[in-house]
Amino acid sequence: MTLAAATPTLASTRQALAESFRKAGIDSAEADARLLIAHALGIDRSELIANGTRMLNAREMQAIDALAARRLKHEPVARILGTKEFWSLMLDVTPAVLVPRPDTETVVEAALDFVVRDGLRMQRLRILDIGTGSGALLLALLSELPDALGTGTDISTAALAVARGNAERHGLSSRCSFVACDIAAGLPGPFDLIVSNPPYVAHGDIATLAPEVRDYDPIIALDGGSDGLDGYRAIAADARRLLAPGGRLIVELGAGQEDAVRALLTKAGLTVDKARDDLGGIARALSVTVAP
Ligand code: GLN
Repeated sequence: MTLAAATPTLASTRQALAESFRKAGIDSAEADARLLIAHALGIDRSELIANGTRMLNAREMQAIDALAARRLKHEPVARILGTKEFWSLMLDVTPAVLVPRPDTETVVEAALDFVVRDGLRMQRLRILDIGTGSGALLLALLSELPDALGTGTDISTAALAVARGNAERHGLSSRCSFVACDIAAGLPGPFDLIVSNPPYVAHGDIATLAPEVRDYDPIIALDGGSDGLDGYRAIAADARRLLAPGGRLIVELGAGQEDAVRALLTKAGLTVDKARDDLGGIARALSVTVAP
């Protein structure tokens, strides 16, 4: 693609790029154009808006073109930038981790609800994040709970390296540790709060996902087995062992999975609360306790 115009300015380039993204069926065309141009030029958003009449030179246009070509192949902006904001924390992302989604903030909200309702905010809560990836859930919770201690697990050591880096970046590394294991195998527990966004896409549905997800998120973070529920089964099997008395487990749900996940958690001897919806009105977080 070339954005060459007779007199390319910041504003005309931004418009042309947004238009090419729109034509390619990219939903967030305007925002993506802004973010990628700002990144290519090393300027911030306010400069981009304020200096619309600034002329761009050939080198700058090339830098923008190179990023635009990646986005037109449906590489997510977060992957091109190498960062994604989650719960107001800027997190590094690499090909080893899922890009954290706004939907997942519903799990943070549900967890904080439980903590605040039970008056536990200033307690030395022991938190476990199963399949932590970039560390998004664990670090968001530690950033809100000043005395809590956290453990993040992941089967991918490359993912754990990203999570560790993010913990350091936000000054949280003294309160967390990371363990390479499948689900929580070998972890002693107990934990007061367990969160997880497990892989939950049914194997056969992976091909139907948006290319941004299918072609760029690590398959291991998406593939939940033949019915998408393998991750929940593994968590259910370990939950009673891992939860402290009065503790809570909160899992993210894929769209339409509430009934099936509720059934399998109940069968494992757990008590399941009403689901919490995400901003799109989809049941997104299930909160679970051990039946007394
Ligand atoms: N939210 C991802 C999707 O686009 C799936 C993430 C997961 O499997 N936990 O479907």
